Amino acid sequence: MIRPVLLYPDKRLRKRSAEITRFDEKLGELLDDMHDTMVEKKGVGIAAVQIGAPVRAITINIPDENGEQLRENRIEIINPTMFSCSGGVLWSEGCLSIPEFNEDVMRFEKVAIAFVDRNGEERSLEAQGLLAIAIQHEIDHLNGKLFVEYLSLLKRKKFEKEWKKSRKN
Ligand SMILES: [Zn+2]
Repeated sequence: MIRPVLLYPDKRLRKRSAEITRFDEKLGELLDDMHDTMVEKKGVGIAAVQIGAPVRAITINIPDENGEQLRENRIEIINPTMFSCSGGVLWSEGCLSIPEFNEDVMRFEKVAIAFVDRNGEERSLEAQGLLAIAIQHEIDHLNGKLFVEYLSLLKRKKFEKEWKKSRKN
């Protein structure tokens, strides 16, 4: 089911999401809704808080060579911890909660995370490229952080102005 996405500057996006302790049908439904919503809005990643569920769950699906986001290719990351990171890369990011705005953000080039899947099974993942960027962006969401917070003061001001203007239209 496609659910409404919370938009900046909704205060709920600023809160730290809670650890998931129950791996039941409801969690499965939430994860399915996250994927449906993300694909509909043409995103590559989404955090549960963005559809109003403040729990530590992330769904990522990098489009394949045909530009498709098949359900079987999705990666579900629950209660993640980053245990290693290296390098640095400037990446032009966007966010489903801040549509039609992109700006460069400095990120780690490679990350490794430990997490659990929807069944509560322990997993780990090493990532680079877009997947590594998406993981960092989405983990930030779990901690109530949005990518615009990385912008310089000048760029942030420019963004706020453009954002207000675009909301009025
Ligand atoms: Zn985002």
